[in-house]
Amino acid sequence: MPDGADHQQEYIRDRAKEEGVDFSGLSKKDRGFREGREKLRFNGQFSTGETFAASENKGEANFGIIKDGKEVFNFKDLLPEGYKFTTPEHWINLDESSADAPFDFKTDPTKFRQEVQGIWQCGDKFISVGKITSLQDIVALLHEVGHSRENPAELRQAQDIGDTKREAEISSQLERKAWAEALRDVRKIKEATGANVLEGFQDADDLDKYINTNMATHRYMAELKTSGTIRNVLQMLDIKTIFGTPTINKIDNLFDKKKPPKK
Ligand SMILES: [Zn+2]
Repeated sequence: MPDGADHQQEYIRDRAKEEGVDFSGLSKKDRGFREGREKLRFNGQFSTGETFAASENKGEANFGIIKDGKEVFNFKDLLPEGYKFTTPEHWINLDESSADAPFDFKTDPTKFRQEVQGIWQCGDKFISVGKITSLQDIVALLHEVGHSRENPAELRQAQDIGDTKREAEISSQLERKAWAEALRDVRKIKEATGANVLEGFQDADDLDKYINTNMATHRYMAELKTSGTIRNVLQMLDIKTIFGTPTINKIDNLFDKKKPPKK
């Protein structure tokens, strides 16, 4: 039986197909990495001679730029104080009673691992890293770094009261902000090392497509979430038999589409 994550993946895939969004780059299979059997290890060469090196040690990921055999830049320097890059091994070995376990992990470690382990995500004092197979993935890394500088208090508030519509509006803004931060860091790294970390993309259109696909994915997830509220209400009232299967609420004004409406 498909679990929640599979159901979500299926919906995202169907919606991407419907809208002609190329989802193939984001839907790669990486089960071995997510389950901690495959370790993080990647070296990518820039045309200017530098190397991007990704590795892991005891559940912590390390990302650097190497020039003439020396590390000239470490991505940890971009993180706020106290943050670290975590690999699947970190979450596998983490104990619920551990002082540095995030609140959501303590509440339900199984669910947390399923949703976060080996998946690009920024949380409380950590960035969970996904599998790295090309220079393009550096942008995913910088995007999460961008999220680490946000103050998601307003988002949490919306989540706490179950206002999924407001939650979608706020996360749409936060996603845009995180991409803007990522592109600022691209410039910073270029100035510091000479390497253009956007080299994994053919041109500006290629990068644009990558960002838009990512944003569309968030929009599809928000559709599921906002529709979930309606579904719950219907179940609560037990009138679903009258209306049949509840329909999905499509969102067309957030994330990759226009700005959220002004209040
Ligand atoms: Zn994001």
